[in-house]
Amino acid sequence: VKAEPEVQHQLLDLAQHDLHISQILHRRAHLPEAKQAAELQDRLDRISAELIAAETIVSDLIREQNRADADVDQVRERARKDQELLDSGTINDPKQLQNLQHELQSLARRQRELEDVELEVMERAEGAASAVRVLAEQKDGLTTEVNELSVVVAGLLADIEEEFTREQAERVALAEGLPPDLLALYEKIRTDQGGVGAARFHRGRCEGCQMELPPTEREALQQAAADAIIRCEECRRILIRTDESGL
Ligand SMILES: [Zn+2]
Repeated sequence: VKAEPEVQHQLLDLAQHDLHISQILHRRAHLPEAKQAAELQDRLDRISAELIAAETIVSDLIREQNRADADVDQVRERARKDQELLDSGTINDPKQLQNLQHELQSLARRQRELEDVELEVMERAEGAASAVRVLAEQKDGLTTEVNELSVVVAGLLADIEEEFTREQAERVALAEGLPPDLLALYEKIRTDQGGVGAARFHRGRCEGCQMELPPTEREALQQAAADAIIRCEECRRILIRTDESGL
């Protein structure tokens, strides 16, 4: 492969585009806003799961509370009937009266116990309901944040996409103007090395890998024809000679 110096110089432009394109791709893959949005989404998912769990607890407690209410009502109703019977004066048998009074006492005790249960369940239900309110508020706030950040991320990605498309188009146009064999060599090196396939030879140094050429190799370079393709011994990139190469 041989190429005139001005053609070789175009490889530096191509390398510049490749560098830009890899920077754009890196930026797209590592957007801090996207990372933040993903973290917020994780938090939102966790809060949503916690909210569902808390809502389940509330509905369980409401059922338990209704059951406790019904139990209290039942005992109260039985006591009311017993009291009515006692007050009616229709029972004269002392043994029966005593039994009835005992039952009223034990019903009163039972009612107090059930009312304690009722109260305890009610307190737990209130606690659970306030946990639901807090979680629901957090979920709303996070949802808003996630939505706002998603819009920001979408905007940034659209800008990056536009820049990428533009760079890519310019690169394609540039590559099309290059001799196919030179381009093929460049692409092969680029694939092998990653990044770019050509580097400036600047002040005795390869700008691709920063290696300084030993004097013997520099001498060989001085002898090389202008249209010869020179490769860096270290990174194998095509070395582009300029006025400042120090040759
Ligand atoms: Zn090199």
